[in-house]
Amino acid sequence: MNGKTVDEIVSEVKKNCALFYPEVASLIRRIYYKHKEFESDQKTKNDFMSRISEPSKHPDFPFSTAYIGQNAAIDELVNSTDPIITLCSSTGTGKTPVYLTALKKCLDMGMRCLVIAPRKDLQGQLVREYCEHFAKRGMPLYEVMRREEYCKELPNPRLEVDARGNKIAACRARYKRKGKWFFEYKGVEYEYPCEDCPFDEHKSKVLDKYRRCKAVPVLNPGNYYYIYNEIEDEKLYPDVVVVDEADVFYNMVTQSVTIRQHILEIVLEHHNELTSEQNEVLDKLLENKTLSQDDIICLLKAVADGLLLKAESVEKELEMAEGAVKFSKEKLRELNSLLDELYSNRRRVLKFTKWPDRIFHYWEGKNVVVEAYLESDEFFKKVFPEPYVKKRIIISATAPKTNYKIVSYNVEFPFAKVISVPIAKFTYTNVFKNPISFEEDPKQAEAILDTTFKDFIHPLSLEVGKLFGYDTNIPTPVFTGALNFNDKMDVVFRKNGIKKYLIHREGNLNEIIKKFLTMEYDYIALARGAEHGGNWYQFPFMTILRMPFRDITTPREKAFRKFLGNEDVWRENYEWDALSCLIQACGRNARHPTSFAVSVILDKKFNQVYENIKAKNPSLIPEWFRKRLIFPRVENSKVVWYDDYGRPFTI
Ligand code: SF4
Repeated sequence: MNGKTVDEIVSEVKKNCALFYPEVASLIRRIYYKHKEFESDQKTKNDFMSRISEPSKHPDFPFSTAYIGQNAAIDELVNSTDPIITLCSSTGTGKTPVYLTALKKCLDMGMRCLVIAPRKDLQGQLVREYCEHFAKRGMPLYEVMRREEYCKELPNPRLEVDARGNKIAACRARYKRKGKWFFEYKGVEYEYPCEDCPFDEHKSKVLDKYRRCKAVPVLNPGNYYYIYNEIEDEKLYPDVVVVDEADVFYNMVTQSVTIRQHILEIVLEHHNELTSEQNEVLDKLLENKTLSQDDIICLLKAVADGLLLKAESVEKELEMAEGAVKFSKEKLRELNSLLDELYSNRRRVLKFTKWPDRIFHYWEGKNVVVEAYLESDEFFKKVFPEPYVKKRIIISATAPKTNYKIVSYNVEFPFAKVISVPIAKFTYTNVFKNPISFEEDPKQAEAILDTTFKDFIHPLSLEVGKLFGYDTNIPTPVFTGALNFNDKMDVVFRKNGIKKYLIHREGNLNEIIKKFLTMEYDYIALARGAEHGGNWYQFPFMTILRMPFRDITTPREKAFRKFLGNEDVWRENYEWDALSCLIQACGRNARHPTSFAVSVILDKKFNQVYENIKAKNPSLIPEWFRKRLIFPRVENSKVVWYDDYGRPFTI
């Protein structure tokens, strides 16, 4: 509780908006006009490019010139004997051609190479942009996509739409009977896999070439798991693996673990309320139309008790239970699919970590937080195990804490700026809870967010829109950092007469962004998670409303905090996690050194967290981010801008 009333907070927000708004608007105008001047002067532009580039020294590099640092980075990736090497540079600085050129050298040395690209868009883009170039040089890149992509090419695709609107292959909800797998599609039962399924054939072809060092597969994490799951002999392990967008990959794997962890936490919390009677468990499952959290608790408890170990036994029990006639096929399918997911997650964890005892404990809920929070070095060594995998090349715009080599290079982006404007502390308490009564108050949320939008974000977006020749505001992403803010953003947009806006709650982020761009929306509210993997480069202006902190109220976070047992260690992790997400977000809207791209951070907390991390772990902050940052200082009631090196900012 900070002791301030909503009115006091709102009046402080108003004061800050009034102080900073004209200064920020003028700063952005100056950056923009300088950029325009630069763009219209070809000689200056050429001089700039020649200052940041040099001739490429590697014949397989896709371009005749390279940014300064790229040539050396290729050599370092190839020559380093470290088991983990992190390649760290901002978005738009050509990390992909660097690692692909290094891979080509490794392939020539007879090493099996593999790329993991966690997003479908990234996978496709990589193959599209570089396949021809490297194929001509003896390194074809082959994409192995989700099985749905192959299924939809069939004359009779067996695809369904899930709750999030994604198309999924019907076989994802398969179930086992008498040792064989089946699935249902439009009321017909099929044996899995379908005879005409192209996925396995394609995968085998690619793997065969990869095994013989004749091609480099570009896989999504699911497919890596799928292949890894099938590895019987060491010949399928890569000698060199590149993990592009490593943060996304790390989150995908650990979160598949933490989802279960979250459920297990609930199981632990509700342990005494659970019944162990089989019929009661079944009744509970049958009672509800959809599987709720309670169902999952019961089901997990049943699984843990050894009562319902397999989908077959669930089916048998259900048939025997009184009232089984009412049992719908839909329910069975849901149940089977859930069990399938539970078992596949369990298999996944076992396969990934090769540490069955620990995982078993984990599954039983005795030690629920051990595996999910591995240090990243440990994590990558477990996923790509020694001694088979020799080199792990980790690609990220923010280098994690690592004991191994970091290869980084910095390319100047003179018109990409990150402006910190401390408007308010958008803490949960400030925004949602009235500190006087400490109750959740929707009006409070609206008051603070509404004022920030009305007095700062919208006028600034209109100003930038004018610079770009729009009659209205420029399409603007508002990075809200936490999903629950988005519901309030909905109210804020509507209240301010914004008719065309999008809220990213769930679903495919890039599809939402594409929609945003093509349908001429005014605003898009993006939640935490969007910083990893979204193509934001078309947005020259964006605002970051809140530091993307993890939600401290989730059982997952509570368990983690308890597990660490040391508040300082937890806080350091918590703050760096949020700051690294924010840094990623700020790197997303500039794809080229000559781009104009401005991000405005409105959360006062940013300064505090940034200074904490800089004091304790300065090496975590990438140089490219430091070079883009601009801070205000209020001197004699006037705002003066400084860079992160303490120098007055000039453009
Ligand atoms: S097994 Fe059948 S349903 Fe599944 S992806 Fe292949 S063709 Fe589609």
